[in-house]
Order: sequence, then C-alpha cells, then structure tokens
Amino acid sequence: MDPKIDQRALDEHLAALEAARTWNPRTVSRLETLVRAGDDEAVFRVNPLKFAAERGMPEAESIDLFLHATAVGLFTMDWLLLCPLCSCVVGSFGSLRAVDNHYHCSMCQTDYEARLDDYIAVSFTVARTIRRIAFHDPAGLPARDYLVKYRVTGPHLAGRTPDGLIWGELVDQVTSAVSYLPPGETARLEVSATRGFLLGYDTDSDAGFVIAIGGDATTERQTVRLQYLDGRCEPKGGKVRPGAVAIEITNATARRGLIAVAELPADFARCQLAYEPFLTAARLLTTQTFRDLFRAEVIRATEGIGVKDITLLFTDLKGSTEFYERIGDLNALALVQRHFERLRDATVRRGGTIIKTIGDAVMAAFQDPSDAVGAALDMLAGVEALNRDLGERALILKIGLHKGAAIAVTLNDSLDYFGQTVNVAARVQALADAGEVYLTREVYDSPGVAALLAPFNVEAGTARLKGVNQETPFLRVQPATATRAA
Ligand SMILES: [Zn+2]
Repeated sequence: MDPKIDQRALDEHLAALEAARTWNPRTVSRLETLVRAGDDEAVFRVNPLKFAAERGMPEAESIDLFLHATAVGLFTMDWLLLCPLCSCVVGSFGSLRAVDNHYHCSMCQTDYEARLDDYIAVSFTVARTIRRIAFHDPAGLPARDYLVKYRVTGPHLAGRTPDGLIWGELVDQVTSAVSYLPPGETARLEVSATRGFLLGYDTDSDAGFVIAIGGDATTERQTVRLQYLDGRCEPKGGKVRPGAVAIEITNATARRGLIAVAELPADFARCQLAYEPFLTAARLLTTQTFRDLFRAEVIRATEGIGVKDITLLFTDLKGSTEFYERIGDLNALALVQRHFERLRDATVRRGGTIIKTIGDAVMAAFQDPSDAVGAALDMLAGVEALNRDLGERALILKIGLHKGAAIAVTLNDSLDYFGQTVNVAARVQALADAGEVYLTREVYDSPGVAALLAPFNVEAGTARLKGVNQETPFLRVQPATATRAA
C-alpha cells in the first residue's frame, strides 16, 4: 500500500461521495482508481472534461463528480489563470474569490484581462489529507519540475502551437539550464550557445535577459556575469560567440529566485496556443451543482470579471388574480414554489443554473444558447403540465432570452451578472405575453436554435427597448402547448 495515501480517510470520503447523489455505474470507482493508481501528475490539476473524454463519460457528470469530490474533501479546486501565449499557469488559486480581473505573465512579460470564458481554467487536485503529492509543496520541487510541471500546464491542460506541438514539452526541450537562486548567492549555469540567442527568464518575476549569439565559434569558455534584482536583471543581456558559456548570476534580493536559460532561434515569435477543452470558470458558474455546493464562492474583484458570451433567461409569472383569491395566499405560495421547482428542473436538465429569483420571476444562465432555448420550451411544458393537474390555467409563464457579454459580480453575497446583456434579456422578457418565448436575433442565430424552434410558430419583429439606442430585433415563439391552452 502506498504510504502517501491515508487509506481510511480515502475510504470514508469515497463512501460520502458515493452517497452524495445517484451516479452512473463505475463513476466513483473511476475516480478511486485515479486516486489510488495515478502518478502524482495524474492527480494534480485534473481536467474534468479530459477525464470524461478518456472514460466515455458525460462531461456534466464528470464536472459533478469533481465538485462533489471537492465538497466531501477528496479534492481541492484549483482556479488557474493561463497565459494564452506560453501555457504558463500565471496564477493558481484555491478559490474564485482570489481571482482578479487582470493578470500578468512574467514569462511573456504581457498583461492580460481575465475573462471567465477564455483563460480561467478550473481544475482539481487530490487533497493533501487524502494523498500527499510533490505538487502540494511546489517550493520543494526540483527547479526543472517546478518550471515544466508546475508553472507550465501539464498533461491535463496541454496548450499546443499551430504546428500541434505541446508548449510544455517545447519549454523543457529548449531550456538548457534552470536553477533556483538562493538569496545573496551566485549560481553558475553552464550552457552551450549555437545560434540565435540565449533567453534568461524567471516564471515568478519579470527578471530576465537576452544574450545574442554571433561571430565565429570559440573553444574558450565565455563567462557572463549578471545581477538578479527585483523584477529585472542587470545588465539586461550581452553578446557571446558560439561555444560554451557560463552564466554567473547573483541574487541580490532577499527572496529565493529562479532563472532558466533557453536557446531560441533569432526569428523566434510567440503564437497563440490552442488549449485542449477545459472547464472554464464561465461554464462552472452556470453549473447548478457548483452554485448549490459552493455558495461561499464569490467574486472579490471590485469591477467583477468579464464573460464574453453568456445566455440569460428571464421568466415571469402572470398569476390569475381570481385564482389566487380563491385558493388563498398560502396555497398560491405553494403553487409558485412548485412552479419554481419545474423551472429549476428544466434549467438543470439543460446544463444551466438559476441565478436568482425576483418575486415570481427567475433569472437563469446558460453556456449554450440552444440549451437555454430548450430549457425555455421545457419550462412552458412543465408549467402547462402543472396547470393540467390543477384543472385550470392558473399559472401563466412568459419568457425572454438574450445572449452576449456581461460582467460576473457578487451582489448580495451571491454570484450574479451585470450589464446591458442582462438589461436586454429582462426587457425582452417583458415583451412576452402569456405562454410566449421572446428571443433576440443573437440567440435565434446561434447553432441549433432554429432547428429546436422549427415545430413552432416563430414570428420576427423589432422593438425599441428602454435604455437601448437601436431597435432590437427579436423572435416571438408561441409553442403549441400554449396555443392549445389559450
Ligand atoms: Zn506567458
């Protein structure tokens, strides 16, 4: 048995995970196999989408599996800020609340704006109380492992160049020397220079240098002496001839630094990397299980964090006043609650999440516009079924949808969305009449939406919405259930 695994804790936590919900057969045992038999890298920053793809599981169940595994204490959540150009993990946080809306990659010396749907990846690492792995203590890793396995994304989250090469492997290949720099000490890095230039870089600060390689080759050892300072090296570089080079670098700071030296061709240029699919923060925030299990997860960044594309759905209930009067407030409230359950079921089944309820109204968010439209149709059908049970059309639902960019913020201690997309979605909802769905052209033109609506009567129109300068094109949908009941 592996001494690094706390067998008893693992068994107990697996039992809790098994009981957390109904799982498809072998789902929990697949995770158990990973924890027991995977190497350290296999249980570090696990990508739930890749985990699902490799095991033929639905992605949504894999995401749920890791969320519940985190809730019971088997795993911890790792929010990673990825550099689009170098697959560097610029920041790694245990919680969304630590994620800011701007970040800086030291390897690329570039600033980025963090957005929930592009370079914020959510991954999962085995909890240290369950199994100890080297990555729980990154400062204790050998310098090269720290660089290529910790600071650069590993096998779960590979970023590839347009030629299909994995960036992390390239970094390992071109980096001829890497060393920690204890404070006040001088490290000596021996490299051989051939052509192009030597790039010195740090992953944790902007300290770096460029040494050009030129002239005739030499058999004499050449020495370059540099100072490692806060955020820079002095001098910033130099020139050597092809041959053996010793770089002597003195850490003049009070903290341990790191320096890596790579030989790169003169025409080296960074390019946008293509990451394999990962769980974006945007998708996680529209996952109901996340919102149910991690209510304390909020955005601390004061300006919020942007999301490029999200589909928002608003509903409202037009209750029959006479009906309410007849059945009384308490019964009416119970009925409204039952209607909320139907809306929630429809939302969760389509992979979305309820953001909030406002009186009788609901705001829900989805990653995929066609899922949102599918949920809207399911909601109408669900409420009509409720009405059939009651024997009269007591509850009348009106739905509106819009998609676009928004800002995720924390309002009243819970995650919410803010911006014009939210306003438009709410106002489009207000156009809808009994049993109707109104969607903006942006939603209708999204993949799969027209096909979903093909069986229904769809009319196009435009409206001038309050607070919106131009006419807003919309589509009005009258599902058959609603027409029949009217
Ligand atoms: Zn970078």
